Amino acid sequence: MDRRETGSTTPESQEQAPRLLTGTGVSPGSGYGPAFLVVGDIPEPAAGSRHDGDAPAERGRAEQALDDVAADLESRGARAGGEAEEVLGAQAMMARDPGLAVEVGQLIDQGVAAPRAVFEAFGKYRDLLSAAGGYLGERVADLDDIRDRAIALLAGLPMSGVPTSAAVPFVLVAKDLAPADTALLSKDVVAAFVTEQGGPTSHTAILARSMGVPAVVGCAGATTIAQGAAVLVDGSSGRVRLSPDEDEVTAARNADEARRAVLSAVTGPGTTADGHAVPLLANIGGPRDLDAALAAGAEGVGLYRTEFLFLDRETAPTPEEQEAAYRAVFDAFPGGRVVVRTLDAGADKPLAFLPSPGEEPNPALGERGIRMFRRYPDIMAVQLGALARAAAGTAAKAEIMAPMVATVEEAAWFAEACRTAGLENAGIMIEVPSAAIRATDLIEEVDFFSIGTNDLTQYALAADRQVSEVAALQDPWHPAVLDLIGMAAFAATAAGKGCGVCGEAAADPILACVLVGMGVTSLSMSAPALPLVRAALARHTREQCRSAAVGARSATSPAGARAAARAELPELGSLAL
Ligand code: PEP
Ligand code: MG
Repeated sequence: MDRRETGSTTPESQEQAPRLLTGTGVSPGSGYGPAFLVVGDIPEPAAGSRHDGDAPAERGRAEQALDDVAADLESRGARAGGEAEEVLGAQAMMARDPGLAVEVGQLIDQGVAAPRAVFEAFGKYRDLLSAAGGYLGERVADLDDIRDRAIALLAGLPMSGVPTSAAVPFVLVAKDLAPADTALLSKDVVAAFVTEQGGPTSHTAILARSMGVPAVVGCAGATTIAQGAAVLVDGSSGRVRLSPDEDEVTAARNADEARRAVLSAVTGPGTTADGHAVPLLANIGGPRDLDAALAAGAEGVGLYRTEFLFLDRETAPTPEEQEAAYRAVFDAFPGGRVVVRTLDAGADKPLAFLPSPGEEPNPALGERGIRMFRRYPDIMAVQLGALARAAAGTAAKAEIMAPMVATVEEAAWFAEACRTAGLENAGIMIEVPSAAIRATDLIEEVDFFSIGTNDLTQYALAADRQVSEVAALQDPWHPAVLDLIGMAAFAATAAGKGCGVCGEAAADPILACVLVGMGVTSLSMSAPALPLVRAALARHTREQCRSAAVGARSATSPAGARAAARAELPELGSLAL
């Protein structure tokens, strides 16, 4: 990608772009400023281009370029610090990957010129990541960035980046952004991010959230926005308004300020307006997410996605490494709950160190989650053992749960495995419709439920969560999904056991009220979502939440369910919802 600036930041006519674009809001709040576009690609080095015959010298050039790229990423990371340093450090490791260097070297030995060899070698890795989809798929932008930087160095092309200072904060618009582009930016320079590609787990989303800058990703047509055009971005709704009038900008600013004031006024444990406690917990992928969770006032952890610790690993993590990672999280919440999910491998979360189940026509319906866990008893024993040792020495209440449980037999097997390992609180995720429908049988076997609405929606609507063409069906507001949640919550309540929600539905402040109205006992979400959910609950009574749930479940469509719930929750307006 050629990161040369394309023109000035003077406002221009932008008739070619419609006035409203929409994407996925991944970092809340609104941002306004002139668009700064990062566009243009590093040209693909010509196919068949050959070096002059001195393969060792050409190999040296390629190695030097990759090493320079890695060193530059590390130095940017060191200057930026914090989360950016970790992200750029990981990207530098990709640039230094020995496997990649071998591929590049082999191509050069066959006579291929260094820039083309880099392009082709990266292409193979790119295809692998892309095919993996999910979190790994979203690392493709990082890989492309390394490739383009190395090719630019080898071909002597300019590689200027995004400005790190500005008189007026700009809205950074790009096809996708690499961590190296965003690491040195701050709130004073960037009013908002808008990218054409990327999802909620892309680095643009992760870094935008950690910077507290509004962001919209997956915004079709974003790169048609003219350089310098005035843009108003709503990082909650995903709306990107071009050339807004003054009133719109003022209204957005006022709403933002009002919301910030309201959010900072509501603190402490989650509770409804009439004092019914609903613990608000954080979803984390590892100890690095703890600071944000604690800063947002999380009362504990409701979903520790342990597979995120090991996504990029070629070898199984050692018992000691695991114990340390679990202990760090337990120790952050003395007296609080920490719900750890055992490895959820397969489908959208392939783990490099586990042999793949082979070609599956429908990976989401294949060997994943608890099915995969059972197939590798050694891996299971190491994880449960490490969890038991970490839990033994802490003041946190450790709860362990399994993903993708479909049957009573699986639930009983998991509970027994946990008890054998010395772990007392064993639960299961409700992500498969069969588990929700027969929740009264499954709850007999375990201590708690946690509903994974992302997968539960995917399976209820038969719409693969990785296929964008069916994304419209992936809506947890669908009354069929609400009914399944209602069944699980009812069964747990009747048995006197807890039933949390840890899927994305819990992060939707309106749906959060509906969930509480259906009997859900705790809500877990990524840290940035906590303040708004806390405020929405604090403004409504449990009875209003129940009415909202009844209204939503009586509807016949997701839109109808939303509208019915809103009608029963009169204080949403004060939160600009
Ligand atoms: C879910 O499916 O809702 C869930 C929380 O798990 P994941 O998104 O990690 O599959
Ligand atoms: Mg899931």
